[in-house]
Amino acid sequence: MRPKKERKHGLTSGIPCRIHKCVKCCIETRMPLSSRDIERIVKLGFKLEDFTVEEEGEVRLRNVSGRCFFLTDDGCKIYPYRPEGCRLYPLIYDERSGEFLMDTICPYRHEFKVKEEDKAKLLKLLERLSKETKTRLKR
Ligand code: SF4
Repeated sequence: MRPKKERKHGLTSGIPCRIHKCVKCCIETRMPLSSRDIERIVKLGFKLEDFTVEEEGEVRLRNVSGRCFFLTDDGCKIYPYRPEGCRLYPLIYDERSGEFLMDTICPYRHEFKVKEEDKAKLLKLLERLSKETKTRLKR
């Protein structure tokens, strides 16, 4: 008998996270936020100072008692509007090796299918985040 082929899901679908009810990446998050993410979330009525922390020019999601500000018992409170980094996770980019990797912290990383366009999106996001951090540091 052939081993059962594992079904893979689109990276940004969030399907494995929902199937397994996994919020591992939302615990002690260090997810950076782009100005687009911030703008989108502020439009929902959240206050910048409530959901962000800024460190060395980088704006990130705030943790409250070790969990992302937006994480509830039912999952992410802003799921359809979540930051771009949350959508692209567990895909990460290792600057030293120049390689794209699936973060080993994610127990279901093998259930995601990564396309070239996901990698391109991640690179663009990282470029934007880096530019925005540099601009903040110049202020
Ligand atoms: S914004 Fe949502 S998906 Fe992203 S870390 Fe917070 S709870 Fe998780």
